[in-house]
Amino acid sequence: MGAIENSLDVVVMGGGLAGLTAANRAAEQGLSVVVLEQGTEAKYTCNTRYSGGLLHVAFKDVQASPVAITAAIGKHDHDYALTHAPLLAQESARAVEWLQSAGAQFEINGPFKFQRWIFAPMRPRIARLDWRGYGPDQLLERLRARLESQGARMRLGARVETLVIDNGRVRGVQVREQGQPTRYRARSVIIADGAGSWRLLTEWRQVLRASPWPRSLQQ
Ligand SMILES: Cc1cc2nc3c(=O)[nH]c(=O)nc-3n(C[C@H](O)[C@H](O)[C@H](O)COP(=O)(O)OP(=O)(O)OC[C@H]3O[C@@H](n4cnc5c(N)ncnc54)[C@H](O)[C@@H]3O)c2cc1C
Repeated sequence: MGAIENSLDVVVMGGGLAGLTAANRAAEQGLSVVVLEQGTEAKYTCNTRYSGGLLHVAFKDVQASPVAITAAIGKHDHDYALTHAPLLAQESARAVEWLQSAGAQFEINGPFKFQRWIFAPMRPRIARLDWRGYGPDQLLERLRARLESQGARMRLGARVETLVIDNGRVRGVQVREQGQPTRYRARSVIIADGAGSWRLLTEWRQVLRASPWPRSLQQ
C-alpha cells in the first residue's frame, strides 16, 4: 500500500466539466480539494472535450422558468431524473452564470431559444474528432487554471479504483497513481467520472444514498 495522504475536505474523481466545476466551487468556499484524473496527458480526452457544448435542459433554455423546465424534464425522462428535476430547474441559470464568471464564452447555435448557450468557439457540426481549441476544450483549460490559482491540485495519471468505506461512511478513495497504489482521505468524495459512475454506485449501493436535494449545492 502506498502513502496515505493527509485528509482533505473534498476529493473529486474525474477532470471533465462536472469534476472541474465541482472542484472550483469547493475551492471558492475555502475547502481543500484535489481532482484525480486517470488521463495522463495535459489534454486528456473525456466526453466534455468531444462534446458539442450546447447547454440546455430537456430542450428548454437554461433561463426558462423552473416550472417550465421541470415540466419539460417530465416529458423526456425517467424517475431518477425526475427526482432531481426541481434542483436542475432552479439551478440551471445560476450554473451558466457561474460558468461565464469562470471564463466560459458562449455563442448562438440556432433559431430556437434553447440554442443560445453553446461554448465558443463552437465545434463544427460534423462527426469528427478535432476538438482541440474549441469551446469545451478551452473551458477545461480555464477551469483547471482557475482551480490551481486557488491553490488546489489536479493529479493526472491518478485512477480511482474504489471508495474507502469505514463504519458505513465514505472516508476517501483507493487510487492507482503513476502505477502505484495509494489512498486519499477526504470528508467528501465527488464521483464525476462521466459515464463510468454506475460502476462505483453499483458496487457501493448499500452505503451510498444519493440525495435528491443536496442543500450544499445552493451555497
Ligand atoms: C460527441 C459528443 C457530443 C456531445 N454533445 C453534447 C452537447 O452538445 N451538449 C451536452 O449537454 N452534452 C453533450 N455531450 C455529453 C457531454 O459531453 C457529457 O454529458 C459531459 O461532458 C459529461 O461531463 P463529465 O464531467 O460528467 O464527464 P467527462 O467529461 O467524461 O469527464 C469524466 C472524467 O473522469 C475521468 N475518469 C473516469 N474514470 C475515472 C477514474 N476511475 N479515476 C479517475 N478519473 C476517471 C475521465 O478520464 C474523464 O476525464 C456530448 C457527448 C459526446 C461524446
